[in-house]
Amino acid sequence: GAKSDGRRTYRFFEAGMDARAKARRGLELELRQAIADGGFELHYQPLLHLEGGTVSCCEALLRWRHPERGMISPADFIPIAEDTGLINDLGHWVLNTACREAVNWPDHVHVAVNVSPIQFKSQTLALNVAAALAASGLAAARLELEITEAVLIRDDEAALDILHQLRELGVRIALDDFGTGYSSLSYLQRFPFDKIKIDRAFIKDLGATGASSTIVQAVVNIAAASDMTTTAEGVETEQQRTMLRLLGCTEMQGYLFSRPVSGAEIRRLLSSDCEKAASVA
Ligand code: C2E
Ligand code: MG
Ligand code: MG
Ligand code: MG
Repeated sequence: GAKSDGRRTYRFFEAGMDARAKARRGLELELRQAIADGGFELHYQPLLHLEGGTVSCCEALLRWRHPERGMISPADFIPIAEDTGLINDLGHWVLNTACREAVNWPDHVHVAVNVSPIQFKSQTLALNVAAALAASGLAAARLELEITEAVLIRDDEAALDILHQLRELGVRIALDDFGTGYSSLSYLQRFPFDKIKIDRAFIKDLGATGASSTIVQAVVNIAAASDMTTTAEGVETEQQRTMLRLLGCTEMQGYLFSRPVSGAEIRRLLSSDCEKAASVA
């Protein structure tokens, strides 16, 4: 009857939870090991000026080279690193590695680093950023920190305070994945962002429907009115690029130009991009 069915469902659920908890625990141990062993690497994806087409910035994207399972996507391990607090060590490594890599790039090219909400709230972010800049010798103005709306919703005052500390160091702040989650247009007025990254969800069907282009246009207008630039994420087609130029978006990032590539490859890409820019000038 209903009662025994219920019990069976409950037991099944419990067993499922147990397996999942075990898998997570396993992954957590492996993550710890990888942090100790240097199992992580950063890949870099260029952001391009929509006018002119030169590279303005490269975003550091974390990769875990697992000994048996190959490359593991950040979407699969960042949540676990966040739950366990490991994200602080990992984030620290990312920040330092990205800054050290970017000093090898042409001076006009910025580096963007993703900052987890946990890392953001850790109180030592500004200190860690200052230390990474000092250790690498990277100019503060070349570092962009990407944060998401998740850091803004809980405690406005504390978030604002941290953003101001970072601003004082001279680094730039980008609002990542704009338009997803808890988006509120009022954030754009209250917080000192330099850049808004418009989520891929709005870029995907640009041109196909009127709705997306209306939204992108609105974000571009609001950004321009507040001295912020805009980056379109996930640009995959020429049609999207054309639309974005017409809409007045500042930068694009996506597979159309380049996937995230290794440190060695990004150096090659940047040196040929510079030659191209010089030959046009
Ligand atoms: P994100 O910061 O929004 O990064 C953009 C993601 O979109 C990257 O996925 C990138 O590879 C992907 N992407 C770029 N262009 C295209 C495109 O044209 N089409 C499609 N379909 N995808 C595109 P990735 O590298 O898997 O990273 C996923 C997310 O993991 C990132 O989203 C970011 O939130 C997080 N993440 C990555 N590295 C770090 C890190 O070092 N620290 C923290 N806290 N989070 C990170
Ligand atoms: Mg990002
Ligand atoms: Mg993003
Ligand atoms: Mg996104």
